[in-house]
This record gives sequence, C-alpha cells and structure tokens, in this order.
Amino acid sequence: MLPLRKRLSYQQAKWALLLVLFLGSIVSVAQIVIDWQHEQKHVDARVEKILNILKDPAIQAAYSLDRQLAAQVISGLMKDDAIFEAELKDDFGGIIARQRVAPSDDHLGWLAELLVGRIIFFSTPLIVEPDLRVGQINVWVDGAIITSDFVSRSIRVLLFGLARNLVLGIALLGLFYVLTSRPLAQLTQQLKQLDQQARRPKGLTYLDGHQEDELGILVETFNQVWASRDQTESLLAEKEAYFRAVMEQSGEALILADLEGNILDVNAEACRSLAYDSDELVKLTLADIDANSSHRSIVIWVRAIEEGRPVSIDSHFRRKDGLVYPVEIRCNLVTLNGQKCLLASIRDMSERRKAEDRVHYLAYYDDLTKLPNRRLLQNRLELTLSVARRHQHIGALLFLDLDRFKMVNDSLGHAAGDELLALTAVRIKGCLREEDTAARIGGDEFVILVPELSDDLSVAQNLVRQLAQRLLVEFSLPFNIRDQSVYITVSIGISLFPFNDATGSDLLQQADTAMYQTKAKGRNGYYFYRAEMQTHANERLIIEKALHLAIENAELSLQYQPQVNAQGELSGFEALIRWNHPTLGRVPPDRFIPIAEETGLILSIGRWVMVEACHQLLILQAKGLPKTFKRLAINISPRQFADDGFVDEVRDVLRLTGADASFLELELTEGMLVKNIDAVILKMKTLKQLGFSFSIDDFGTGYSSLRYLKHLPLDLLKVDQSFVRDIVWDSNSRAIVHTIIAMASHLDLALIAEGVETDEERQILSKLGCKNYQGYYFSRPVNAELLVSLVGHRVEFPLLRVESIE
Ligand code: C2E
Ligand code: CA
Ligand code: CA
Repeated sequence: MLPLRKRLSYQQAKWALLLVLFLGSIVSVAQIVIDWQHEQKHVDARVEKILNILKDPAIQAAYSLDRQLAAQVISGLMKDDAIFEAELKDDFGGIIARQRVAPSDDHLGWLAELLVGRIIFFSTPLIVEPDLRVGQINVWVDGAIITSDFVSRSIRVLLFGLARNLVLGIALLGLFYVLTSRPLAQLTQQLKQLDQQARRPKGLTYLDGHQEDELGILVETFNQVWASRDQTESLLAEKEAYFRAVMEQSGEALILADLEGNILDVNAEACRSLAYDSDELVKLTLADIDANSSHRSIVIWVRAIEEGRPVSIDSHFRRKDGLVYPVEIRCNLVTLNGQKCLLASIRDMSERRKAEDRVHYLAYYDDLTKLPNRRLLQNRLELTLSVARRHQHIGALLFLDLDRFKMVNDSLGHAAGDELLALTAVRIKGCLREEDTAARIGGDEFVILVPELSDDLSVAQNLVRQLAQRLLVEFSLPFNIRDQSVYITVSIGISLFPFNDATGSDLLQQADTAMYQTKAKGRNGYYFYRAEMQTHANERLIIEKALHLAIENAELSLQYQPQVNAQGELSGFEALIRWNHPTLGRVPPDRFIPIAEETGLILSIGRWVMVEACHQLLILQAKGLPKTFKRLAINISPRQFADDGFVDEVRDVLRLTGADASFLELELTEGMLVKNIDAVILKMKTLKQLGFSFSIDDFGTGYSSLRYLKHLPLDLLKVDQSFVRDIVWDSNSRAIVHTIIAMASHLDLALIAEGVETDEERQILSKLGCKNYQGYYFSRPVNAELLVSLVGHRVEFPLLRVESIE
C-alpha cells in the first residue's frame, strides 16, 4: 500500500488546493483593497450624514446660543463611537458646547495611521442664509476604531476563504482518489498477479465504469502488447525446445561457448564423455577441458569460420577424472541473444586412433611373435644402411631359417608350431643388444639386423661370428612345448654392409643366399655371403651412362596394365615404363628408376612418359573408349613431383598434346606427400583444377596415417601388392586390407587392389569389400598395339590369353 503523500490523488489534490489557495488569496486581497477604498468613502459619508441630521438643531443652538440644545447636538454626535471629540462654536469662535472621551486603545494605531490617519478632523460651518454664518461644528474621529472594524471584517473574509478552500481540498482528494488512484491501484494489483499466476491469463480486465475512458484504452493497449508478447514468448520457447532437442539428439558431444571460451551450454553426450555434470561444465572454460585451446586459438578459429574455411581441429580433452583422450573438434558460429558464440561438436577419436595404431601395428609387426615384420625390417634396413655409409662402419644382416620346422608343424600341430615360433623369437632376442632388430619375415624365417659392429672388417666379422655361434648354442637347448622337449636347429646366412651400393633388398637376398649355402652344407651352421662387389658397382655406372641416351635413342616404351571393376569391365590403365637397351637388354624399372631419381634424369624421363601417355590416350579416345573406362594412370616419382616446375611442365604437356586431363590420374606415393604438406596440397589443388585425379600408390607400406590423408585432395587408394600377395594365408594382411577398405570408405576414397594374381585372391578381396582390381590374374601389362585392340572390343576380364610381349 502506497503512503498517502505518494499517491497520485493526494498529489493532485495538493496541487489543486495550493492553486485554489493562491488564487483565493489573490481574490481576497483584491476584495480587501476594494473594501478599504469603500471604507474610506464611508467614513466621510457617515460623519457627513450625522452632521446633516444634526445641522438644523446645531444652527438653531448656535443662532440662539442655546447651550442646552448645543449640548444635545454634541451628545448626538458623540453617539457615534468613532467620534471621540466634538464641539460647537459660535460665530466668534466661542465654544457653546463640547464633549470629549478618551480615544480608543492604541493597538491598531499604527495601522490607522497608515490607512486613514490616526485622527480625522471634520469641520462644518453652520450657515443660515447665503451670507449668514452662525457658527461651526468641529468633529474628531478616531481612525483606530474605523480601522478595527475594517480589520475584523477583513479577517473574516480571509478565514472564510481559507475554510472554504480546505473543504474544497478534502473534497478534491476524495474525488481524485475515487477517479484516479483507486482504479490505478486496482490495475497495478492485476498486473502484479499476471506474472505470478501459473496459468497465464489473457490480460487485464476492464474496471467498472472505466471501459471507455483513458483507463479503458490503457487496459486495451496493454492487452494487445501482452498478447503479442505471449506469442513471441511461445515462439521463443518453441525455438529453444527445438535447439535443445537437436543438441540432445546429436550423437556427438556438443559444447556452446562464448568467444572468451566460457562454456554456456552442453548436451548430455558432452557430460557423459567428459564425466562432468552440466552444472559443473557451465562453470568452466574451454581451456579447462582442452589444454590446446586458448583465447588466441579461439580468435583464429572464428576468423577461419568467418572466411568460410571449415574448422576441424585435432586435440585432446581432459575428463573430470583427469583422463586425457583424443578428439576431433569442429566449430561453427551461432548468434544467441545478439551474441556470437562457438558451437563445437566433438568427436571422441579414441577408437579411431586405436584402430590406426592397430593398423600400424599390424602393418609393421608380426602378431604371433610380436617382432617387426618384413616391411618394418626393410624400412630400418634402408635407414641403417645410409647411416652406415655416412659413418663408414660395418653392420650385419643375419638370415635365420629353422631347420625342418615343417616336421614339427606336421607332427605336433600348428598350435605347437606357433608356440615354437614365439619361443624362437624370445630366444633370438635374448642374444641381441638393444639397438639390434630381430624380425620375422616369413613362416619360419627370421632376420637379425645388427646396425654397427666395428669400423674394421675383420673385427666386424669376428663379432658377427660370435653372435652366430651364440645363436647356434642357444638353439641346441631343447624347447619345452606342452611338456615335451622339442629340438630344432637353425641355418644362418650372413651378409655384411655397406659394400658398394647394395640396397636393402640386395642385402636380404645375399643373406638368404648364404643361408641356403648353409642348408646345402648340412644345416645348423652359418655362412658369409661373399659377392664380387665390383661387378655390381660397375653395372650401376653402365646403367647410368646408358640411361642418358635412352630417350634420344628411342629405347623407352610404355606398357599399359588394365584395371577392372567388380563386373570385370575395363575401368582404366596404368602406364608402366619399359627400357630395352641394345646390349643390356631389358632393364626392369625397379632397377633404373632409382638411378634416374638419383641423377635427376627422372625429370626428362617423366616428361617423356607423360607425353607418350597423353598421345596414347588420344588414340584410344579416337578409337572409342568403353563407358566403364575412367582413367589412364601415370606414375609420378618423388623427385619429379617435388620439382618446382612440375605444374608448369604438366600444363605444357597438356597444351602440346591436347589431352583431356580428366581422363588422367597421377599416382603418388605416401612418402612424397608428408613433407611440406601445405605446398603439396597447393600443388595438388592446382593440378586438380586442370582436371587430374590423384591416387596413392603402394598404400599401406608408408606412413598410413589418416591424419594427413584427410587433408589431401585424393581420389583413390592403391592397396600395396605385398598385402594382396599374402592375403590367402596371412590373416594379418587380411585384417590390414579390411581396415584400409574401411578407411577408404570413411574418407570417401575409391580403392583398388594391386597385384591380384589368382581368383582366390580376388574372391577374398571382394568379400572384404574391394571393387577394383589390377594384376596378372586379369591381365599383364600390354603394349600399345594390343592396348588398342583391348579397347576396341567389349572385352571382359580376366582375359584368357593376352600376354605382354616383354
Ligand atoms: P608400381 O607402380 O607399383 O607398378 C606395379 C608393378 O607391379 C609393375 O611392375 C607391374 O608390372 C607389377 N604388377 C602388376 N600386376 C602384378 C601382379 O599381379 N603380380 C606381380 N608380381 N606384379 C604385378 P613394373 O612395371 O616392373 O614397375 C615397377 C615399378 O617401377 C612400379 O611399381 C613403379 O614404382 C615404377 N615405375 C614403372 N613405370 C614407371 C614410370 O613410368 N614412372 C615412374 N616414376 N615409375 C615407374
Ligand atoms: Ca604405380
Ligand atoms: Ca603399386
């Protein structure tokens, strides 16, 4: 309840009253002034009137000098209480009669002095005939008495006015209360209740008697606004509900944060994966759960989103319990209440990373013995070899093959065989130092890589001999398998490096050869490989020299290996280079391409391949390509792709030949893509604009990391031959191929399996989800003439008898 003095009615009444008082006072004052003027005249008239009445007796008394009459006249005058002295004089100024009383008190004297004078003197001559003057009457009037009459009258006027105004004020207060304050208070009460009630009423109700006045209009206007607010609110509520539903139904964790990183909202999935309650999360910032995010990184994300670039960040989140797990964050900007916010959707990458690690493990390790496999060994071997060359120290490769392992397998069963292999691995490792590598490269074949023995050849030989002997001794002890003592021996072949430029595979080959020598000589022993190193080095020099003239002398040619789809229809070709030298004969590409790389000749050879392939494409097109045909693939070597002029070179070839790049595919290898990834992406994008597509050759043997693959504009993965080769008997290879196929489909890439040699391989691949193939089973590489005839007819693969003329 409002206190009285704050109420509108009181204020209105107060001001009205003040105004009335003010105006009333002015009126009263004016009234008094007029009254005063009137009073002045009245005094004169009054005295004159009395004098007039008494004039005749006075004349008579003065004329006859009748003192008695004179005294009566004067007494008559004195009856007027304003007159305090009067006298009647004869013609000569002698006093006939006179009376005087004391004038009144002095308390209004000052006012009388101001208004009329303290004492007013009247004198009237007594005249009988025009010239006969008989005497004179003098009268003294007391001004104070007159004034006091006037004052009391004035006070009455003022008091009455005041009383009237007060009554008026109270009446106004009541009136205003009834007309204004009370209805307003009622409306206020209604308004208060509006927001408190659970079921929202439609609005205010009209007040009795106020339907059509301003209050009525107020209620009406308010109700309209209220209705539209209600509508907006329910619209907002619907939107909010929709937003929440979208957030909650998303399978991904969603976090809404402001641009400072403060978390504003989260969905249930985010709470679940971070192990927080939502109340706790909304008190945190992004930096609290993601060590990599900061204000700066948020600014960078926002800029990227605004420039239309997709923002996808690999990061790590920290759960409430401290556990850190890998995530992929994708960000969007949303505007809420006029404020820009980040909506981050978070994908838990733990499973994916595990799968990647698993693929990596399967690709590089042997699951049975947990040792590195052939692939990892080869990588390490190349690396070791180059280090040994640089530092001029000698290392060794030992090839171990268990003697008569097959017998163990056959007699005790596969499981026992597997157990034996696992124990063999343990025993081999027991003989090695930390820096040595033991690998399992085949059924019962193991390889030991000793990176550094000595700088001196004879010392190195001695050391490796000791190692071999130690291994033989270790193997002379029985293996305990299922409570049985199993005896097995091992044959070892040793090659030393680095000598001349034997490659890793050369060294393996040499150690293998030496091992066979051991077997031939009765097993359970070791042999060194002794090569005529000089011959090898010479051969390399000869090749290098001859290669310089290969293009000029038209010794190079291309062959084309068909690629087929699931229905066995032609989907493309891979162009493969051939070199036929007059004296060296056919030099395989594996032999001369690395030399061309090293010497830089690959640049001109690569260009030649491209021009040749483009010409061939035009010929095929003229002949009419089948509908199923997609692309002609060209191998690009790392040095070629890395060359600054590569893109220009490619453009030049297109211009020169007029070939249509959308029918061309460039085969790259993983190794050449991971370095300088930004420059690589730029190069690939430029080429893509020209129409080219891209495939990754020998996929699975290199880095096999999706982390960079997803950033590249790729079209196709070519599963490496080595997996296909082992797919029938090796479950690891099957698992790898299976995972690669899943990855490819996840990344939206096409996939082709290379080196398919048998129908069995094709069937297994097909079951794993592979739909494109290349390999001897379908067709060997064919020369240009045969190629034209392949395109001409609607052939189906595998071909029965189209062999290459190699
Ligand atoms: P690559 O790119 O992996 O080519 C596939 C190789 O596998 C070819 O060997 C092909 O003849 C062979 N191949 C195809 N199907 C089968 C099969 O079913 N079983 C087996 N065992 N092998 C099969 P090729 O022609 O000897 O080429 C070897 C490598 O030389 C190529 O491997 C590629 O890396 C390189 N190369 C060939 N031509 C060129 C070229 O024009 N430029 C460049 N830079 N490198 C080339
Ligand atoms: Ca290739
Ligand atoms: Ca390949």
